Amino acid sequence: MATVEQTPAGTENGAAEGIPVENPATGEIITTVPDLSAGEVSDLIAKARAAQPEWEALGFDGRAKVFMRAQKWVMDNADRIIDVIVSETGKTHEDAQLAEISYAAGAFGFWAKNAPEFLADERIRPSSLFVKGKKLLTRYRPLGVVGVIGPWNFPLTNSFGDCIPALAAGNAVVLKPSEVTPLTSLLMAEMLRECGLPEHVYQVATGRGETGAALVDEVDFVMFTGSTETGKKVLARAAQTLTPVGLELGGKDPMIVLADADVERAANAAAFYSMNNGGQVCISVERVYVEEPIYDEFVSKVTDKVKGLRQGPSTGPGSVEVGAVIFPPQADIVDAHVKDAVAKGAKVLTGGKLAEGPGRFYEPTVLVDVDHDMDCMTQETFGPTLPIMKVRDAEEALRLANDSDYGLQASVWTKNADRGEALARRVEAGAVCVNDAQINYTALEAPMGGWKSSGLGTRHGVGGIRKYCAQQTLLVTKLAPKRDLHMFPYKARNTRMLGRLLKLLYGRGKRD
Ligand code: NDP
Repeated sequence: MATVEQTPAGTENGAAEGIPVENPATGEIITTVPDLSAGEVSDLIAKARAAQPEWEALGFDGRAKVFMRAQKWVMDNADRIIDVIVSETGKTHEDAQLAEISYAAGAFGFWAKNAPEFLADERIRPSSLFVKGKKLLTRYRPLGVVGVIGPWNFPLTNSFGDCIPALAAGNAVVLKPSEVTPLTSLLMAEMLRECGLPEHVYQVATGRGETGAALVDEVDFVMFTGSTETGKKVLARAAQTLTPVGLELGGKDPMIVLADADVERAANAAAFYSMNNGGQVCISVERVYVEEPIYDEFVSKVTDKVKGLRQGPSTGPGSVEVGAVIFPPQADIVDAHVKDAVAKGAKVLTGGKLAEGPGRFYEPTVLVDVDHDMDCMTQETFGPTLPIMKVRDAEEALRLANDSDYGLQASVWTKNADRGEALARRVEAGAVCVNDAQINYTALEAPMGGWKSSGLGTRHGVGGIRKYCAQQTLLVTKLAPKRDLHMFPYKARNTRMLGRLLKLLYGRGKRD
């Protein structure tokens, strides 16, 4: 059985009422964690604020040492971390290994190596006449205390993962994990302590939505990952204190399969990228548009593959492909989308209902004869379902793909990569793959963020760490006269001279 210390780092006693943590694959209650009050969150933030200067003063090299120890710790303890993730999410061993362990281990190395370059001072060559010859630069300094609020689908990657660049920049972090999956975040506190992170630089505020809301009030930046609905609440609350926020929200990712696609690869990808992590991936394939000539072949291949998937509690590597529904109300949403589609004329080719217990599983489901009057094509389902729609041509697929409030990610499948890229550029989404899906997320150099209702800002890349910093411009004047030309008192001669100078600079030559 997976074990972690249940007292959040930095809190001695937690709250009286605990939150039970369930294993969704078995229905068993594993443990309880404290439900922190607003006052207790305040205490954590005060401790974080006091601890942050020491962490910042360590510099990039000092922080990188802790990160490289952490990277090794994650690999040395991979089985233990996987056990904890699997126990609180009911996902498969592979879902925990591929998308969580490899992400965290990679991220420690990536940010240790790149933070100094991404946050280095930048000299600026001034174009303004008034600043010529002066030293002008911009620099980045940590904001102070970053609050990270995470969802339940990837407790390591999408909750703890955002703490890594925030820490790399020299901030202290308070993480509020989902009430459903708090154990991995607590294990990371134990890990960072062992790796030499100064006390209170990383703390976990376990609790429910109110705990997250309290965090928003006092931190210097809120990095939120979760639903669009909650994201809007966080944005509204942060507006009260003018606190900057990053929002990584929901998606309804379209997959466009053109007639000249490699149908076998596209079918394998459709089955995998819609069902991995039980379909509970913000960038999972949520809907498919297939050009008419290959529609029947594609549907038949995908259905065969999905029918062959094994589902149940993961007992180790290679045991099952599709895990549990992590969050209880999500099972109702998935079921409602399938029922709504069927009521409006869709056909279920496989799956289509909640599996028998124990544990909370939704059968891997393929739907056809779907359209945009159905929730399964317009609302985020976030479960192991794959609705497939036949389209006349690429233009119809593109129109339908863009007919969405969301714009997180998308994919285009064709053997003509140039045509695929041209189409990808017309899709309204923060990231689009051609003949691939999801794996762009592992390229930490590449910005990742949603358009439309899928988010604000990006994670990863240069912007993924600069957002945790205040940008400061410095202008340093070394040699200067007692009085510059433009200073008081105004004199007609100087004004005329400046006028002539401006004309010389901006008023010469023909413009057509
Ligand atoms: P929620 O929006 O329900 O919750 C996200 C987090 O916010 C949880 O920790 C939750 O706490 C907390 N919270 C709830 N209410 C408030 C509040 N008023 N103020 C501050 N925090 C609050 O999302 P889910 O956990 O259900 O996650 C699934 C969603 O996340 C999907 O929409 C998915 O697409 C999205 N997601 C987006 C990703 C991206 O990168 N774009 C990546 C992964 C997921 P509690 O759980 O205790 O209620």
